[in-house]
Amino acid sequence: MKCKKCGSKASVNMRQHKLALCKDHYLEWIPEQTERFIKKYDMFRREEKILVAVSGGKDSLSLWDILQRLGYQADGLYIGLGIEGTPYAVQGRSRDVPLERLYSAESHRLAEKFASERGLKLHVVDIQQEYGQPIPMLAESSHRGQGKPCAVCGLVKRHVMNRIARDLGYDALATGHNLDDEVAVLFGNTLQWAGNFLLRQSPVLPSTSGLARKVKPLCRFYEREMAAYALLRGIEYIYEECPFAEGSTSIYYKELLNRLETDKPGSKLTFYLRFLEAREAGLFAAAPASAPDLHPCPNCGQPTSTDDLCSFCRMIAKANAITSKPLP
Ligand code: SF4
Ligand code: ZN
Repeated sequence: MKCKKCGSKASVNMRQHKLALCKDHYLEWIPEQTERFIKKYDMFRREEKILVAVSGGKDSLSLWDILQRLGYQADGLYIGLGIEGTPYAVQGRSRDVPLERLYSAESHRLAEKFASERGLKLHVVDIQQEYGQPIPMLAESSHRGQGKPCAVCGLVKRHVMNRIARDLGYDALATGHNLDDEVAVLFGNTLQWAGNFLLRQSPVLPSTSGLARKVKPLCRFYEREMAAYALLRGIEYIYEECPFAEGSTSIYYKELLNRLETDKPGSKLTFYLRFLEAREAGLFAAAPASAPDLHPCPNCGQPTSTDDLCSFCRMIAKANAITSKPLP
């Protein structure tokens, strides 16, 4: 297989695009395409300040790398979830695995390493330090999530990302969701015809009162394209998934969609792009889009539709009632 641009040996073959590229041309192609998507979906401009949510994984670190290479002002935010030292320690390793190899500590180390090697600014929020308990304990003590901390984790991450973006004056919050992530969510929402969620699934969510603009510049890249980018750029990232991701519905959907993609290359991209077109054309416009009445939470100031504390503050209050700590 030869590179379509220079004829030398190709490193990456993208069947869905009928495009093979050598290492150098691939490493040029990814930022070019990212820039194209940033402009196409009007995500942000050069003069704006971007906060990249980095998990230590390949997508978020690659996103930060690409934005940096494209000359955007992008700082990082790492959220220490405290997922370590549990029986769920990193897959394939025993429980007595050294602490520094456990999920959160390792992902934190890699995010710090990436930032310091490039002289980039990384904000770090440690959930246990700020809110009294790490994610698995918060989930347990607030009795949410049926044995899995993912619901609490999602709530906490959204709250913290929004808080840092708002308090530190960032114009947009960028996450490393790739096409496989987006298509798995789309598939799940389509199976349920979840109109409100379908209406809100987009490469850009504009900022609304008190909520930062959210952008997903990698939403049109396949997961394997991002893995190839990270590998060819020599980015060191955490290879393991969060131990709590095991057995999740989204992984199951990804496996199903991978089977479809193997038989029909390009299916995932077509499913996603046709969805975006249909949404633009108003296919979901008739869905009950009634925007809830939002007002600031009396404790944290973030928008909420309830009359009382927002769901984040209620969860923290419930979790800390056990340890009788006041709300932060
Ligand atoms: Fe959080 Fe669940 Fe994702 Fe782990 S798998 S990072 S607990 S949402
Ligand atoms: Zn609140």
